Amino acid sequence: MRIALLPGDGIGPEITEASLRVLEKLGDFETDEQLIGGAAIDATGEPLPQATLDASKQADAVLLGAVGGPKWDTTKPDAPRPEQGLLGLRKELGLFANLRPVRPVPALYDASPLRRDRIEGTNLIVIRELTGGIYFGERGRNGDTAYDTCIYSVAEIERIARVAFKTARAKVTSVDKANVLESSRLWREVVMRVHSEEFPWVQLEHLLVDNAAMQLVNAPRHFDTILTENMFGDILSDEAAMLTGSLGMLPSASLGANAPGLFEPAHGSAPDIAGTGMANPLAMLASVAMMLRHGFSLETEAAALESAIDRALEGGLRTPDLGGDATTEDAVRTVLSNL
Ligand code: NAD
Repeated sequence: MRIALLPGDGIGPEITEASLRVLEKLGDFETDEQLIGGAAIDATGEPLPQATLDASKQADAVLLGAVGGPKWDTTKPDAPRPEQGLLGLRKELGLFANLRPVRPVPALYDASPLRRDRIEGTNLIVIRELTGGIYFGERGRNGDTAYDTCIYSVAEIERIARVAFKTARAKVTSVDKANVLESSRLWREVVMRVHSEEFPWVQLEHLLVDNAAMQLVNAPRHFDTILTENMFGDILSDEAAMLTGSLGMLPSASLGANAPGLFEPAHGSAPDIAGTGMANPLAMLASVAMMLRHGFSLETEAAALESAIDRALEGGLRTPDLGGDATTEDAVRTVLSNL
């Protein structure tokens, strides 16, 4: 099990080191550490050096900390920028499925902007199509009008639908706007066919996107797996993220067809706290759990790590972003001892 390890910038190296200590406890992993983002620009002049790309393609999974920081902020259009490293990697690996689980931890219910009774028992995942739809269709200007085209092929819908049906525990909620959009009618048709031909044992429901946005705050525990296209997923995954109340807690995974998956926390490089030893490593550790589950099919290990994180929080562990004064080191030690 080979992991390309890309610590990146800011708190990236600190949380990556934390993840290595946890991985050591969980199995026999070979790691290949490479540069990305600002660190790579400093060393090589490029945000995604060829060596990093090669190591990522050869690995079974890619684990990334975060990229970026004020040092590399520039208004010069031709200067290399750290996020080009991440975008380039996603493109080169053909990562078409973005997975964002939202599982508010009981110990943090009161950190959510929603009332406890609304979020209790929520455990959902948003599966967003990442390489098609209106963000990639033809766009342009015509006199004083502008247009963007939402375009999807049957094959693009089939492959993302399969990811959702494989991920679901019991139910997939496919979100579209089939009462208005033709691309949504194709979406619904293909999702229904993939369901009846390949995954008839999974429950399937369809929801219009406006209703889905409402239900997500009204009754989030209604959802198991939300399957949706690129732009709807962009919006709904951020809305769903707020249920947990803290950025330092959210993992993500991006998966491709045959390429290794990319696993990373949803937060950035937090340059304001880099080097202070105060970064919350839990989103990174939760990303490691996603890597174990989706990258290596190690469900038992993934669940054990998630439960060790939950117990740490139940036991009162709070880094400064959660209102406490625990350090990164405290967090890692607590998770390790629970593990
Ligand atoms: P950020 O997520 O880095 O930080 C926002 C706030 O949340 C900061 O106050 C930070 O201290 C805090 N925070 C974030 N993660 C934390 C953690 N694990 N523990 C404790 N506190 C945490 O977002 P930003 O400030 O908008 O961006 C900073 C840099 O990160 C920018 O250069 C941006 O481009 C980059 N960025 C990278 C990614 C990525 O690598 N995927 C994502 C978003 C932003």
